[in-house]
Formats: sequence, structure tokens, C-alpha cells
Amino acid sequence: MGHRHSGAGRSGTPGATIRRTRRATGHRVVARVRICPTCGRENAVAAIRCTQCGVSIARISPTEVAPPQPEAPAVDPTCPHCEATLPPDRATCPYCGEALRPPPRIVITWPWGEQPLERELIVGRDPAASPLADRLADYDNLSRRHVRLRPAPEGLWIEDLGSTNGVFVDERRLTPHQPVLLAESGALRLAKDFRALVRIAVL
Ligand SMILES: [Zn+2]
Ligand SMILES: [Zn+2]
Repeated sequence: MGHRHSGAGRSGTPGATIRRTRRATGHRVVARVRICPTCGRENAVAAIRCTQCGVSIARISPTEVAPPQPEAPAVDPTCPHCEATLPPDRATCPYCGEALRPPPRIVITWPWGEQPLERELIVGRDPAASPLADRLADYDNLSRRHVRLRPAPEGLWIEDLGSTNGVFVDERRLTPHQPVLLAESGALRLAKDFRALVRIAVL
């Protein structure tokens, strides 16, 4: 019982008291330094001489100052296309849809070899739709338009185009006509036994 209630946040329980103490410590916004009277440098409290000008600071009382601010994030927080303020770590702008960083490098390993994928590709046995139709002519259980692979800044979109025998990503069958995003590398299977490996490397 004690364990079940320790995380409930009730005032008066030992768990709540510990959490309040930690929170107060975590939000401390000051650091203690010895400020050099000669050059103004902020030295560590343990220092007895200024690290910049060398004067003795052993008798200077420690002062509380704001700690250094963390470095600004490397990504510009404003969209370069529509100038909206952006949430952190987005591949595309949620307001205008433009790409905010270069697309990842995507390489497909087919049974016959590797293919870097830079633009949309339809995989199937229809020569009018798929540049791979010749390669796939002997795979009778693949559909004429089986799957669409579409590279995007956030990864690879994979869409079952209504195939007869299915598209599987890491052995999970996709719902036809509902694209799914593969953000990391994965295994692609078409029908019973046509397998390909998708490798995605974020630049
Ligand atoms: Zn100094
Ligand atoms: Zn934008």
C-alpha cells in the first residue's frame, strides 16, 4: 500500500516532501563566485587568486550571480519560408509545410542490389507506372501497382496502393491507401516473400 500511494502527490506523505525539495533545488537560479576587485572576473569560490589577473581574492566574500545561460539552439526558431515561430526539432514547418532541413539519405536494398531513393517510386509489375516492372516480371504475386515509396524530410512514406497480397513493414501489414512513415531503417516485405531493406540516414 505504501508504494501505491508514494507517487500520488498527497501532501504530508514522505514522497511529496522529497519531491518538493528536489524541485526547489532544480529551480535554483544562482551560482556562487568570487568577483575579482581588480578586473571583475567571476572566479570559482574555491579560487584564492584571480585566474585572469592573479591578484589575491581569498578575502573577497562570495557573491550570488545568475549562472551562464545555456547556448541558444542551433536551429533558427523562425521558419525561413513563412517566418512563423517554430516548435523545436521539426523536419517540416507545421504552418507552411516547407522542409526545414535536408532530406535523409534513403537507400533500398532490393534482391538485385542497392538503390538510393531520392524521389517517389512506385513498385509494381505495371511498366507504365513502375521503373522496376522489368525486374518484377517474374514475381507473380506482386500487384501491378503494389506500393508507393515517397522520400520526405521526416523519413520515407510507404503506401500500399491496394495490392492483392499486402505490404508489410517490419512484418506489420499496412492498411491499403493509408501511408505510414518510416523514420528509421526497417524491413519491407511485399506479398509473401519479396523482401527489401530500407536504410534511412539523417544527414
Ligand atoms: Zn582579476
Ligand atoms: Zn513555414
